[in-house]
Amino acid sequence: MIHITEHKHGLKMTGFISINTSVLKNPYCSTNRCDNKKICSVCYGKYMSDRYPNLKKVLNSNYDILNKDLTIPEIDQIKKQLNRYNKRYIRLHSIGEISSIEMLSNYYEIVESLPGSIFALWSKRSDIVQSIHYKPDNLKLVYSNPYYDRPLNTIPEMFDSVFNVVTYGYAIKHKIKPNCNNQCIDCLKCYDQSGNIITELIKADQTRIKKGTFKPIEVIL
Ligand code: SF4
Repeated sequence: MIHITEHKHGLKMTGFISINTSVLKNPYCSTNRCDNKKICSVCYGKYMSDRYPNLKKVLNSNYDILNKDLTIPEIDQIKKQLNRYNKRYIRLHSIGEISSIEMLSNYYEIVESLPGSIFALWSKRSDIVQSIHYKPDNLKLVYSNPYYDRPLNTIPEMFDSVFNVVTYGYAIKHKIKPNCNNQCIDCLKCYDQSGNIITELIKADQTRIKKGTFKPIEVIL
């Protein structure tokens, strides 16, 4: 059975549920974590998996389930599980990355089985996404820029939006005000709209602002 994450109160995804997979089992993630120019080098999913063994276990299990072609009864089982939460908005991969065409096509079948919900999937794998020439109408695909401090202003084919991450220093230098408001339920840009170029401040610098070490960017720009 797939594990569904319910996001805790007070965090960015309060009120959301998501389906997530292991970043430790995914070869793409393992390779990219070693490149310190890439956002994967500060992977939140790895940090959480190392810290919480039970989370690691369920993410491993989800990875194994979703990485092979699912049967119609298996898709139906996941649909029933998701339906119990009765959510309008569902995120795919707040932790994890698609690893194969099989995983992406499983997600497409899950999404299509719940036409009353809107899903958003974050991915860096334009190669996999562009190898399938359609996507469900109730799915937004957000291209997660692999590089921090190299914001993209064009949206790759098949995607609806781009998600950039910048450091505090880069944002100040280039006069960028991040437009991810860090409370998805009040924003929903990534779920309800297309054509967005979204920029988020890297998490470590968000923490520095919260602690008062750095001034809020709006105060400086
Ligand atoms: S832009 Fe809005 S919907 Fe997208 S991740 Fe940020 S807060 Fe969530």
